[in-house]
Amino acid sequence: MLMLVSCVWAADDISERARGIQSEVIGIDSHIDTMQRVLMEHVDLGQRLPGGEVDLPRLREGGMHAPFFALWVPTFYRGSEAVRRTLDLRDAMQSVLDRYPDQIELALTAADVERIVHAHKIAAVLTIEGGHQIDDDLAVLRMYQRMGIRSMTLTHFRNNDWADSSTDTPVHNGLTEFGKEVVREMNRIGMIVDVSHVSDKTFYDALAVSTKPVIASHSSCRALSSLPRNMTDDMLRALAQNGGVVGINFGSGFLSQKEADKTLRDINQFGGLEPNLTGKALDDYSTQIHLHDDWAHPKPTTATLDDVVAHIDHAVKVAGIDHVGIGSDYDGIAEVPIGLEDESKMPALTAALLKKGYSESDIKKIMGENTLRVMREVIGK
Ligand SMILES: [Zn+2]
Repeated sequence: MLMLVSCVWAADDISERARGIQSEVIGIDSHIDTMQRVLMEHVDLGQRLPGGEVDLPRLREGGMHAPFFALWVPTFYRGSEAVRRTLDLRDAMQSVLDRYPDQIELALTAADVERIVHAHKIAAVLTIEGGHQIDDDLAVLRMYQRMGIRSMTLTHFRNNDWADSSTDTPVHNGLTEFGKEVVREMNRIGMIVDVSHVSDKTFYDALAVSTKPVIASHSSCRALSSLPRNMTDDMLRALAQNGGVVGINFGSGFLSQKEADKTLRDINQFGGLEPNLTGKALDDYSTQIHLHDDWAHPKPTTATLDDVVAHIDHAVKVAGIDHVGIGSDYDGIAEVPIGLEDESKMPALTAALLKKGYSESDIKKIMGENTLRVMREVIGK
């Protein structure tokens, strides 16, 4: 009986310590898809929303004060249509920034992130997800950078004209000459190269060309769940060598082999959509897909918080403590793990890492300091 009581106290102690760490850390989630919900469902991020996984109250509660908001455009937006849709998403982001200036602010540098978080606001870092969004034009890339976008995932589910994707049949053998130019230009203008979604060959090509650290903003470990979107141990080691960071993805299929087949089926189904539409008709189609898709209605899963801990632990063992972060993919994944159902639950992850023996300073690196270091090294401030 006495033993039992002391165990309960110990558990309470750990939760309290975890909440304390979470309140001090600059928490960076390097990938959330919440802007889709703002653009297509017109959700109000200032409120605690009944559905989805992210809003401003839950970011604060979880201590994840510096989320990377992905302005993701599906690859069925082609050419200039993808550029137009990127502007729509940037505008939707602006509507949130303008509506809640006392709660959220655009962060352009690592120094901005620190200043904004210390002022008790959410620091919004903007990214785009898919090289097709530049329409094969470096001037478009540069204009995105001037609009405050600080990272780009080189591909999404399908190949584009200059890079192979991990979930398509390779046609370029990695990066084309123009693809290499894109990486060099991103290095030059201070945008972080994101290698989540790219094929293994594209990954190694990007690392060979990049003179700056890269991130895999939302990928987990292939050794634990064999999904092409995840990183092999060799890739994790190469990423560490490059000085980069992998943000562990919380999607069930990314975490658990039992769920991986379903995730791959969903990816193939989505990647295969090729509507012959433009303009408003294409936007309406996209909204329809968004509303009916799995991520609007998450289903029960067998993946848990312990799986997230296992992936973090594996990545730390292979790549080292300085190269692992968090990239939940919240509001973009079909199923969320039990125990980490939304952004507000992050202190439970910190508690689990404490229980596993991780030190406070190690946890702070994983929760955000590593990714902040990459921002500083790439953006230069
Ligand atoms: Zn993604």
